[in-house]
Amino acid sequence: MSIELTQVVKTFQTAGNAYTALKGIDLKIGHGEFVAIVGKSGSGKSTLINMITGIDTPTSGSVTVGGVDVTRMRRSHLAQWRGRNLGIIFQFFQLLPTLTLLENVMLPMDFCNMYSSKERRSRGLALLEQVGMAEHAHKMPGMVSGGQQQRVAIARSLANDPPIIVADEPTGSLDSKTADAIFRLFERLVESGKTVVMVTHDNDLAKKVRRSVIVADGEIVNQYVLQALPNLDVDMLTQLQPVLVQRQFAPGEVIIRAGDEGDQAYIITKGVVEVFLPVPSGDDIHVATLREGQYFGEIALVRGGPRTATVRASEQEGVELMAIGREAFGGMLSGSALTQEEMNEVIRVRLEELSRMRGDGHGASS
Ligand code: ADP
Ligand code: MG
Repeated sequence: MSIELTQVVKTFQTAGNAYTALKGIDLKIGHGEFVAIVGKSGSGKSTLINMITGIDTPTSGSVTVGGVDVTRMRRSHLAQWRGRNLGIIFQFFQLLPTLTLLENVMLPMDFCNMYSSKERRSRGLALLEQVGMAEHAHKMPGMVSGGQQQRVAIARSLANDPPIIVADEPTGSLDSKTADAIFRLFERLVESGKTVVMVTHDNDLAKKVRRSVIVADGEIVNQYVLQALPNLDVDMLTQLQPVLVQRQFAPGEVIIRAGDEGDQAYIITKGVVEVFLPVPSGDDIHVATLREGQYFGEIALVRGGPRTATVRASEQEGVELMAIGREAFGGMLSGSALTQEEMNEVIRVRLEELSRMRGDGHGASS
C-alpha cells in the first residue's frame, strides 16, 4: 500500500492569526518502504503525519493511502478504515491506564470487529510475545517501564495486521538503548513487508533508514538539494530552506552570462544545463553538462569577480533550479567547513578545466 501527498497545505487558524504549518508538500512513499521523517521541532512533522492518518485534514491538496483519498472519506468511515489499514504509534504510548496490556492490544480488534473473540486473545498474546512482553500481559500499563509501554503500543498498532505503520517520535521519550531495540522492531516489520513511516529527531536512527525525508519550515527539502550539499546538517538545511528560491528557465535560455556580475548560485533540481566558455572570435566552447544534484554559479560568489562562464538551459527541455543569494550562500559556507572544503575542490577543478579550454596554460590559482 503506497502513500501519496500532492501539494498538501495546512494552515492553522488561531486567535485571528493564520499559521501555515505545511506549505505544499509533495511526497510519495512506496509499498514496503522504511522512511524516516526528520526535522527540527516545529517544522511540521506531526502535522504531516496527521495528514496521512486522517487525524487532521489538509487546507488544500490531496492525500491518498492505498489509492483511497483520505481527505474525502466520511468521518464515520475513517475511523474503521484507519483501524484496519494503519498502525499508529505516538511518542507517549497512549495506552489506556485502566486496561491490562493484553486488553490494550486487543482493543483495535474489538473496535474494528476483526478476528473472532477467541482469536483476539491468542493473537494479542502472540503480538505481545513478538515484542517481548508476553510475560507482562496481565499487568496494568502503570506497572511497566516507558520502553515496555512503547513495545506494547507497537504490539497494539499491529493488532489488525495493518499494511502501514506510522510512528510519531516513537523513541522520543526513551533512553538510547531502548530506542535501539524499538528501532530494530521497526526494521523487522519492514522486512516482513510493512510500510513504515517514522518521525524522529534522532539523527543516528535516521541515518540507519534507507530513505530520510527532511522537513524544514513546512516544506520537504528537495532531494537534489540534499545531493548537492550532502554535508549540511538538519539545522543548516532548516536555515537554508526559506531562502531557496525556485526558478524555471525555458529550453536554451541563458541563466548566467560570462562577464556579468553574479549574486546567486544555483542547484539543479530538474533537467540539464550546458556550460560554455565564450571566445572572442567564433562559437562558444562547450565546457560541461550539469544535471540534477549539481550546482553552478558558485565561483563568482566564492572567488569574487565576474561570471567565468555562460550557463544555459539545455535546448531539449527547460530546467528547474533552486537559487541561493550571496548572503545566504556565504552563511552556509561559514557554517559548514566540510561544504566549504568540498566546494573549493569543485571550484579548483572547474577553473582548471576552463583554463585548459581557453588554452592559456595558466593554472586556476594563478
Ligand atoms: P513538529 O512535529 O515538527 O515539531 P508540528 O507539526 O507539531 O511540528 O507543528 C508545526 C507548526 O504548526 C508549529 O509551529 C505548531 O505550533 C503549529 N501547530 C501545530 N498544530 C497546531 C494547531 N492545532 N493550531 C495551531 N498551530 C499548530
Ligand atoms: Mg511532532
